[in-house]
Amino acid sequence: MVPPLMVRQGELVLERLTMQGFEAYFVGGCVRDELMGRPVHDMDIATSATPEQVVALFERTVPTGIQHGTVTVLMEDHAFEVTTFRKEAEYEDHRRPSEVQYVRDLEQDLQRRDFTMNAIAMDRHGKVSDPYHGLQDIEAGVIRAVGSAAERFDEDALRMVRAVRFASVFGFRPTKSTWSGLRICRDKIAYIATERIRAELEKMIAGPRPLRGLELLRRSGLLEYINAPVPMAALRWSAKEAQNDWLAAIEHAEGAELPELRWSLLLQGLSVQGDEAGPLLKRWTFSRKLSQAVSNIIIFDEVMNTMNEDHSISPEARRSRFIKTALRLGKETAEGWLLRRKALVKNLSPETEGDVPGKANLPTDFPEAEWFRAITVFALSDLELNGGEIIAATGRKGGPWLTELLNGLLFAVAAGELRNEKNVLLEHAKAVVNTNGHI
Ligand code: ATP
Ligand code: MG
Repeated sequence: MVPPLMVRQGELVLERLTMQGFEAYFVGGCVRDELMGRPVHDMDIATSATPEQVVALFERTVPTGIQHGTVTVLMEDHAFEVTTFRKEAEYEDHRRPSEVQYVRDLEQDLQRRDFTMNAIAMDRHGKVSDPYHGLQDIEAGVIRAVGSAAERFDEDALRMVRAVRFASVFGFRPTKSTWSGLRICRDKIAYIATERIRAELEKMIAGPRPLRGLELLRRSGLLEYINAPVPMAALRWSAKEAQNDWLAAIEHAEGAELPELRWSLLLQGLSVQGDEAGPLLKRWTFSRKLSQAVSNIIIFDEVMNTMNEDHSISPEARRSRFIKTALRLGKETAEGWLLRRKALVKNLSPETEGDVPGKANLPTDFPEAEWFRAITVFALSDLELNGGEIIAATGRKGGPWLTELLNGLLFAVAAGELRNEKNVLLEHAKAVVNTNGHI
């Protein structure tokens, strides 16, 4: 499942190299994904030509990682990373080496790759070279290290997280020896920069079974050694299968790809509370913005859930609580929460198995969407009246009372009780100041 234009231009690169007497193959993720029938986004090429020879052969090249033997070749619409056959030597501190050594043949190049499914090459006629039987492992659904797992993980500890990521995204399982290698080497993950681990977590969460990934990280013990210590107590491993159902249910819904929606579902399914989620993601080096967004969506949901559990609450009180929460947590949070809710209600069949927290209480109608649409102001700056004008009109000194008053006005406008017009708001403000003589 490679876009035809990409294949054609990739084949041109291979052809040009082979016509000059070099060997050249598609290799790695693109071959694996093609054999699995998955979409291919980019195609890597391995060749016997040196980087200098590659640069000389093509009109447009970029020396992306020339010290590692990689040159990017720009064709008409697509770019290809072309890497000279190499092996990696001198691993230091359990990270990928800074030095590489070029080698003569493909098989040695494949040998340095992490897993058998990533060590398959394909020539321009579609002929496959698979010395480590990656195809067999793909068919069996297993992740197997090339060579001794413990050695490969000791060389480069990131491979352990990659193993878990592939297991999660593809629904594969590590072989016995790969798993035991992982358990032996797990503490070495502490040498790897958290950003690189985070990049793997990002791919995991984007896939269909992120919970499986997190669980493998936990079962292997890796989670405890990931540079930033994770508050394990915060992760309560219950209702997990149901959680996968949640994510599966929203898979084709609008907004399903948004990381804040996916993380909010995943973490909430592990009973991580809204105020715990932000710090947790920040420790995993996710951006402040994403961490905050996830945290806010969960907090929003917690507020709404308390109301679901309270059957005595009136629809008006529910609406007013919704609006207050939307103002407090912001428009984007409310939007995110609504998208998530909509996706869940639409796609979670009543037969969905498992004990999904809050599912029994999930209302199937959506007054909230209506309430949300009716909100015309979200911030004090949206009001037609500002604090200075209130001070001028009342002759009082500013203070906390003013913020409180402004927030009251904001709520009243958001709830449709007051029009957002300067004189309307000012009259109301004066009346409040007069009745509350003590402020
Ligand atoms: P993705 O779908 O995420 O692109 P990928 O397998 O293509 O997966 P890349 O990081 O793009 O992953 O790497 C391309 C290829 O390089 C891999 O298929 C593998 O053969 C090799 N590779 C990548 N990282 C490592 C590593 N840490 N150790 C050994 N080989 C690696
Ligand atoms: Mg790739």
